[in-house]
Amino acid sequence: MRIGHGYDVHRTAPGRRLVLCGVGIDCEFGLLAHSDGDVALHALTDALLGAAGLPDIGRIFPDTDDAWKDADSRDILRHAVAMVREKGFEPEYADVTVVAERPKLSPYIETMREETARAMDIDPSRVNVKATTEEKLGFTGCGDGIAAHAVVLLRE
Ligand code: MG
Repeated sequence: MRIGHGYDVHRTAPGRRLVLCGVGIDCEFGLLAHSDGDVALHALTDALLGAAGLPDIGRIFPDTDDAWKDADSRDILRHAVAMVREKGFEPEYADVTVVAERPKLSPYIETMREETARAMDIDPSRVNVKATTEEKLGFTGCGDGIAAHAVVLLRE
């Protein structure tokens, strides 16, 4: 077994489309990024790459590369999963936590879980997605940004 952790943050921006775990969220702001800004899938991608001992997301998918401009982060995740499988590992379980004061994500959580599992080509029972606020503290609490953590277990 191999374990990996990923963490990512993106700044909020009015008028951008908010996408978390590949799901469009009804919200008046989105996240600033070279790609679609899916902070949750970026954290998950980094956890996968970390567990497999591969370079981090910023080195494999640099924001200077126009190939990933406005990219659907599910494609970035699919690419990372393929690299992980290429190294002889299979994703056993993934646990993703989104830290956002707003919007309320509970209505989307199940769809986010299913969409993440679909992108990883694994059974939804092997993925967990949850959301928390930070009690109005810090940059997530005041709405300046959204953060995400992910932990992944790989089987060799
Ligand atoms: Mg990112």
